[in-house]
Amino acid sequence: MKNLQYLNKYFWKYRGRFFMGFLFIVLGNLFNVYAPVLVRDGIDFLASAISASEKLNAGNEAVEVAKPASLMAIASWFSSTFPGFISLNKNSFASSIAHIALLLAVAYFVIYAIKGVFLFYQRQTIIVMSRYIEYDLKNEVYDHYQKLDAAFYKRHRTGDLMNRISEDVNRVRMYLGPAVMYTLSMIVLVIMCVVVMLRIDVELTLYTLSPLPFMMVAIFYVSTIMNRRSERVQTQQSKLSTMVQETISGVRVVKSFHREEHFEKEFDKESALYKNKLLRLVRADAAFMPVIVLLVGLSTALTVYVGANKVMAGEISAGVIVQFVFYVNLLTWPFASVGWVTSLVQKAEASQERINAFLKTEPEIQSITEEEEKIEGTIEFKNVTYKFPESGITALNNISFKIKQGEKIGIIGRTGSGKSTIASLLLRLYDPSEGAVMIDGKNLKQHHLYSIRKNIGYVPQEVFLFSESIAGNIAFGMDHADESKIKDAAQRADIHNNIINFPQQYNTLLGERGINLSGGQKQRVSIARALIKNPRILLFDDCLSAVDTQTEAHILAALNEEMKEKTSIIISHRISSIKSADRIMVIDKGALVEIGTHDELLSKNGLYKSLWEKQLVAED
Ligand code: ADP
Ligand code: MG
Repeated sequence: MKNLQYLNKYFWKYRGRFFMGFLFIVLGNLFNVYAPVLVRDGIDFLASAISASEKLNAGNEAVEVAKPASLMAIASWFSSTFPGFISLNKNSFASSIAHIALLLAVAYFVIYAIKGVFLFYQRQTIIVMSRYIEYDLKNEVYDHYQKLDAAFYKRHRTGDLMNRISEDVNRVRMYLGPAVMYTLSMIVLVIMCVVVMLRIDVELTLYTLSPLPFMMVAIFYVSTIMNRRSERVQTQQSKLSTMVQETISGVRVVKSFHREEHFEKEFDKESALYKNKLLRLVRADAAFMPVIVLLVGLSTALTVYVGANKVMAGEISAGVIVQFVFYVNLLTWPFASVGWVTSLVQKAEASQERINAFLKTEPEIQSITEEEEKIEGTIEFKNVTYKFPESGITALNNISFKIKQGEKIGIIGRTGSGKSTIASLLLRLYDPSEGAVMIDGKNLKQHHLYSIRKNIGYVPQEVFLFSESIAGNIAFGMDHADESKIKDAAQRADIHNNIINFPQQYNTLLGERGINLSGGQKQRVSIARALIKNPRILLFDDCLSAVDTQTEAHILAALNEEMKEKTSIIISHRISSIKSADRIMVIDKGALVEIGTHDELLSKNGLYKSLWEKQLVAED
């Protein structure tokens, strides 16, 4: 349980609840163990009443019957002068016996009621504690997610990361709550029962308890099988739901390619697999109770047989047999639950191992300082090489350039030439493999990371909008933004006129529950999101690819004003977007091959010229 030790800090944090929980477990089990004592007393009392009634029938005038010891114990709390015997004659016999039996029954009921109260508080403390810890742990995991860098997210699949915070945390909670509670309860109950039983009769105790260890082993075995099978069911289940989810979100493609029947068959196949796996689980599940019943039966039979002999020998009273049988039943669930609890702990251990490994992952990209700084906006790449560690692809190869503050730069190149990588490096989503990226003459690594990102208005190549209002999406990078600012940014990104035509205007919801924007509209919302920050550097990564050239020209004209005192970098694969830039950099296969104004580059007769000609032909 090495990994689960990580959680001890939380047990300590909630030690008050934990301790109270333990107290309630002890109290609850005290009453649990006491209830069968009443039953024993009842039976012994009945036995003595029967022999007394025989004496009465034989002609005795009056007989003395001992009151049940447990009732006497309870009564002595209230008064010290309580006669231990009742004297009975023929007339009073039946009603007096019934009266005492009723008292016993009431006492029994009260004990169960009190036990119930403690059971309630036991769950209210321990299970509630586990929910608090779950909450803390979820926050801890999520906070860590926010700290980790882009490279980490490249290495892990979203599904795995989602599981960490939901499935894994939940499994750990099962350990914190039920597993801890049942284990404590079982230990306390077993100790109490065994002590009480041993004090009554050692030999009988050993006979009674002898089948229970076998039950524990058998149940552990059965639950291991059940666990394995239920894992398989779960894997199949998630396969099935992934499939359903994909065919539902892709329903337009499915229908237009007429693949309905194909998917019906696929679903049937996977669903049948699921059913079969489930049936195997059900079979193992079905074996669970019979194993318990069999061994409990054995234990009961031994108790009755050995107990009866002892009663005959006068070693114990008949009530003890019943008391022991009650204890067997009490102990059944704790013993049976050992297997279950063990598997809970094993699962939690594996989950916590994953969580720990994740929490130990340090972000590779960290800010060297916490102090905000002012950014002017000069940029320099000094012999920058970037190699993607996972694929080994060298996206940038020894690239150097300088951009002055306020300059407007166009970057052009074919897809895959490394343009987006330049943007990622400038934002310090990655650190260069070799060389240095400088802003204001200082290496990015020496800057305050968040000041850099705050001062770059970045429009990524792939737009990502959140499922909330348009206003919320535009104001995304701001802690607060008033309506006029949002509107202003939208106007500058040339999307305002579209937005006011939506029924709820700026409050229109996007995404699953809202409307879908066209590709060009999305890009413009994304541009507005960058502009509202009023950054020192504008960085547009192919963000006008989904609008036609005319709209593009319109947006660019509107942005021209915006770009005047800002450093701006417009990345594109389309010449029309960058034609009017102060300087244009032509990137090919990770290298800077040409640089200059539009006219200069055309006169060079190089890659730029050939791109230009191809695009002219395409436009015609
Ligand atoms: P561009 O933006 O010019 O189309 P990119 O900068 O996106 O080009 O990509 C440059 C090269 O790096 C390409 O060969 C691409 O396949 C590779 N690449 C981009 N992103 C990754 C990544 N996350 N992992 C591995 N290789 C990548
Ligand atoms: Mg790109």
